[in-house]
Amino acid sequence: MVVGNLRNAQVVIDRQAIKYNVREEVKRLKQGTELFAVVKADGYGHGMVPVAQAAQAAGATGFCVAILDEALGLREAHFTAPILVLGITRPELAEIAASQHISLTVGSKDWLVAAKNAMTKQSHIEPLAVHLGIDSGMGRIGFTQVVDFLAAVAFIKQNPEYFIFEGIFTHFATADEQDTTYFQQQVKKFNAYVAQLDQRPRYVHVSNSATSLWHDACNGNMVRFGVAIYGLNPSGTAISELPYPLQPALSLTSEIVFCKQIHAGDSVSYGATYTAEADEYIGTVPMGYADGWLRRLQGFHVLVDGHPCEIVGRICMDQFMIRLPKPYDVGTKVTLIGEDQGAEITLQEVAAYSDTIHYELACILTNRLPRKYI
Ligand code: PLP
Repeated sequence: MVVGNLRNAQVVIDRQAIKYNVREEVKRLKQGTELFAVVKADGYGHGMVPVAQAAQAAGATGFCVAILDEALGLREAHFTAPILVLGITRPELAEIAASQHISLTVGSKDWLVAAKNAMTKQSHIEPLAVHLGIDSGMGRIGFTQVVDFLAAVAFIKQNPEYFIFEGIFTHFATADEQDTTYFQQQVKKFNAYVAQLDQRPRYVHVSNSATSLWHDACNGNMVRFGVAIYGLNPSGTAISELPYPLQPALSLTSEIVFCKQIHAGDSVSYGATYTAEADEYIGTVPMGYADGWLRRLQGFHVLVDGHPCEIVGRICMDQFMIRLPKPYDVGTKVTLIGEDQGAEITLQEVAAYSDTIHYELACILTNRLPRKYI
């Protein structure tokens, strides 16, 4: 992937905002509860390594990622803190994870048997730390029957040279919603699994950002803090009351690269879907859907000189056009996400316009856009 370091468009990440968000949450956690920063998907598009550095500096004691490659990426970047892979990893890769002290999620005894078989073929093995995932209602991965869970726990205990029972966890489907009925059902189911254990593993964890912010869910001792690290409200706007104001870390800026006057009847962009009704000034912004600036954002706006300016005509792969209140110089700053002279466009607003969630938009800003860290 070519990174557009020379182009006039960039994602700007405010590391102080990340530190602030982590610090505020760490302050609220019960004593003995750790915060693991969820930095999967390249730190939700913010850059995995810089986010991990900022989060760690602010008090995160571990990391969660989705895939083993991400965990190895953190180790390559010299992070020595605990790392948990939240997705299912192929059992043949257990030895690689163990040798790098990376903990893996396990959702069945079959997985443990397969991992043991794979590890047996290695000349030297270190035990693999596993977190048993409980599917209490998310319907994604994890144990759905207590009896299967207990069989897995017994298997781990019978094979201490292969496995360490490091954690038990679940994930909530509706922690960001006002109605807590389903959430409470999940809590109850999860607690029934924990109650079966003679001895709790080192980590018992249930909380994503929404759970950590809004629910005193269970007596766990670690939270998997994701989207809120980046300053984004996990509920979008459904629950606007936050225990502290989150600070968004990401802004997206570009520049006007071309400015012209068009006249009544002139059209703009593919399909000629926009036609001027009078004389208008049109600016061209060198970003497009290949950068993750979705085509369906036609009709939305950006900020120029603090003014909202409508996106006119279809968004192209690498460029789009805006209607300006007056002519502006080439090089004038364009804010797609963030603040400009007291005006602001939030990632949530862009998400709402494009009928998606801010999580998705942050992840799909492609690596062609350089990330600048302030
Ligand atoms: N835990 C698990 C298992 C997840 O899948 C995720 C995110 O997808 C998180 C925690 C973090 O969630 P959030 O970003 O909402 O804090």
